[in-house]
Amino acid sequence: MTRAFRWMPHDGRRHAIRSELAPREEGATLCGLPLTVPPSQSYVNWCWPTCADCDVAWRTHEGIAVFPGQRTDRPDQPACAR
Ligand SMILES: [Zn+2]
Repeated sequence: MTRAFRWMPHDGRRHAIRSELAPREEGATLCGLPLTVPPSQSYVNWCWPTCADCDVAWRTHEGIAVFPGQRTDRPDQPACAR
């Protein structure tokens, strides 16, 4: 299944961007931050905190309800050392 968004470390947070954005293309995160997609796919900042605004927007798009007290682990995110 192709996802409409992917996660992108940017400005200290992991934000969601539209998955069709190509490297060096200018776009915006789901929470409205402008960004230029970096040319490298080898990101080193996967352990940055997830942007809460992007998380809500992503959940809304994916049809995942936002419940209080929900688990924070998601299977589509890379595992980070905790
Ligand atoms: Zn964001």
